[in-house]
Amino acid sequence: MADKKKLKLAICRGATCSGCDIAVLDIHEKLLDVLEAADIVFAPTLIDVKYKDVEAMEDNEIDVCLYHGAVRDSENEHMAKVMRQKSKILVAFGACACFGGIFGLGNVSNKEGIFEEVYKKTASTDNPEYVTPQTKHVDKEGHELTLPRFYDDVFTLDDKVDVDCYIPLCPPTPDQIMTALTAIISGNIPPKGAVIASEKTLCSECDRTKSTDRKIDRIYRPHEIEIDQEKCMLDQGLLCMGPATRAGCGTICIKANVPCRGCNGPTKEAFDQGGNMLNLIATIFDIEEENLTEEDIMKIAKQIKDPLGTFYRFTLPKSMLRRVRIGGSSK
Ligand code: SF4
Ligand code: SF4
Ligand code: SF4
Repeated sequence: MADKKKLKLAICRGATCSGCDIAVLDIHEKLLDVLEAADIVFAPTLIDVKYKDVEAMEDNEIDVCLYHGAVRDSENEHMAKVMRQKSKILVAFGACACFGGIFGLGNVSNKEGIFEEVYKKTASTDNPEYVTPQTKHVDKEGHELTLPRFYDDVFTLDDKVDVDCYIPLCPPTPDQIMTALTAIISGNIPPKGAVIASEKTLCSECDRTKSTDRKIDRIYRPHEIEIDQEKCMLDQGLLCMGPATRAGCGTICIKANVPCRGCNGPTKEAFDQGGNMLNLIATIFDIEEENLTEEDIMKIAKQIKDPLGTFYRFTLPKSMLRRVRIGGSSK
């Protein structure tokens, strides 16, 4: 290993909670194996390297870049483009980079709506002149200060740059990270566009007992019932996203008796995770289709609290909806 040329690894952040940075550290002592094979040359959360250092690198000088977070502002987009230019393999790392993730729920509003909420309406805000972040400010001494431009929309990484492969989950598990890094380190580069996760649905790796003819008469929230730990959550009326979600996480939430929220994203077949799940819910209500009244539909709909946050919690920017229309505009 000592004679072998070490790879150059970068970890870049977009609009992120940094959980994905911590996920890399969660591989624990295996990190030593990674560091034996690769030098981390850029990772703002972990080491003191400046943007200008990476901007000064040769094109394709970095072997692999894990980019986590969505693209929410001009700085995120700039760094996505820099990392694309400087990296041989660019990986969308985590649900936010792959599908928009939790940050993608910002697409229910736009810049104006978010600024108004944050800088005006929140109870703790004291901002009578409604001062909002500006992209440029010149202080009394004439120094020009700049801030990134906040976009109306949240974008996925591949909305802005070409992506080589995807590691979803929120955040990726140590197993997934090691599978991907081991493959890359040993030269087994995943095919272009590969998603490092199973092609099957989460239900296929879930060992709970499932009914063959699933029917429910109402939807429960997890705190409303005592959840049977052996039985499928959907059979118990709980909204589990398993049927529309890729397997690969080891059903970690299900094992903790928590319904899946879909952070591994849709399977290839499901494509639109939320739409797929809504379809399924419509078919499992114990009402004959010909007897289904408008009142029944409203009754079902009312039971689903926060439908967008339930069905598109991680994938709104990547879904067919992409965003909620604001005032007749969807820009
Ligand atoms: S995928 Fe999850 S852990 Fe990673 S940045 Fe997004 S919210 Fe954070
Ligand atoms: S719906 Fe959820 S609980 Fe039921 S089998 Fe699928 S993953 Fe398991
Ligand atoms: S069970 Fe669902 S929400 Fe939990 S980690 Fe797996 S894919 Fe994500």
